[in-house]
Amino acid sequence: MERNIVTGGCLCGSIRYEATARPYNITHCHCLDCRRSSGAPFVTWASFSRRSFRFTSGQQRELRWAGRLRSFCPDCGTPLTFLAGPDADEVDVTVCSFDQPTTVAPADHTWVEDQLPWIHLADDLPIYRQKRETHGS
Ligand SMILES: [Zn+2]
Ligand SMILES: [Zn+2]
Repeated sequence: MERNIVTGGCLCGSIRYEATARPYNITHCHCLDCRRSSGAPFVTWASFSRRSFRFTSGQQRELRWAGRLRSFCPDCGTPLTFLAGPDADEVDVTVCSFDQPTTVAPADHTWVEDQLPWIHLADDLPIYRQKRETHGS
């Protein structure tokens, strides 16, 4: 039996998820769509292979926006996942919905061309104007 590496869920607890593989490409995304959909200045995401991730309780609501698929809890609104498209091989999950967000270390900042001028980065992580160059999708 596979051990859960990551568990998490929304603020109200109705949506829960688990992943059986390690997350990768932990990034702070400053793009406009992440900002708007979260109401926060940037969103920290972790990628999982899609087959290693599943929802275990509740029914998340999906929003199709700009060709991407974002999911959130319909009861409390917590942003949960991002898919580049319906057939994407990987799913991005909001790190701050993890039960243990401290277990991952963000590697970079992406889409800093949209970064708000009153956010001052001081963590010395690599920054990318748009998506990470080595990122597949
Ligand atoms: Zn909820
Ligand atoms: Zn984004």
